[in-house]
Amino acid sequence: MADFEIHQFLCLSDNYAVLLHDADSGVTAVIDTPEVAPIEAALEAKGWSLTHILNTHWHPDHTGGNLELQKKTGAEIIGPRAEQAKIPGIQKAVGQDDVFDLGGHEVHVFDVPGHTAGAVNYWFPNDRLVFTGDTLFAMGCGRLFEGTPEMMWTSLQKLMELPPETRVYCGHEYTQANAAFALSVDPGNTDLKARAQQVDETRAAGQPTLPTTIDLELRTNPFLRPAAPGLQKAIGLEGAAPVAVFTETRLRKDNF
Ligand code: ZN
Ligand code: FE
Repeated sequence: MADFEIHQFLCLSDNYAVLLHDADSGVTAVIDTPEVAPIEAALEAKGWSLTHILNTHWHPDHTGGNLELQKKTGAEIIGPRAEQAKIPGIQKAVGQDDVFDLGGHEVHVFDVPGHTAGAVNYWFPNDRLVFTGDTLFAMGCGRLFEGTPEMMWTSLQKLMELPPETRVYCGHEYTQANAAFALSVDPGNTDLKARAQQVDETRAAGQPTLPTTIDLELRTNPFLRPAAPGLQKAIGLEGAAPVAVFTETRLRKDNF
């Protein structure tokens, strides 16, 4: 087992796909398949052969390339058990507490309902990596299309418990817009102000703002900070339960 080589690149307008390659086993996995052409181009540029597809949830901007890539490469498709009827070509269905091997690397599965009802995230504890799909974004979280705020808050708490140094790869480059919203509900957060400034510079240079880390999100992501007094005060919910603060924060983001 080697360290993973990791290659992140844009697909469609603002989706990311990520390739993980283990040189010893020859395993190459893609996390989500927004679009075939950029994934094929990335594989070709790296000289890697696709062996696995890991889907975080059923939305077409995460699974749209499944069937064509499977047909062309024979890659095995792994996805959420609770959404298997909606995941094109799925061969291995996984869910909460499942652990599987990917080229000698241990993968732990979390159920993270909220954005969709059956979404999963993939945690690689020994590689200190997590793939959060549309559940956790840099300074944001996914819209609640199929789940309740309570479900999403429970899902996000699973991610909050990961080691702080864990690198977080997300499904979209939404960071700059998320930062603007975050500042509106957590205006006294100095870490957030510094990060927002840095994000503006990164985007002005045309660079990705991801991956992030659990530590950075705990300090700057308003959706992980419903217990923070400054945030509670800014939205008029001082002393409220975290789930109530999270619910109000998510509602405000929907209308921002
Ligand atoms: Zn989605
Ligand atoms: Fe998406």
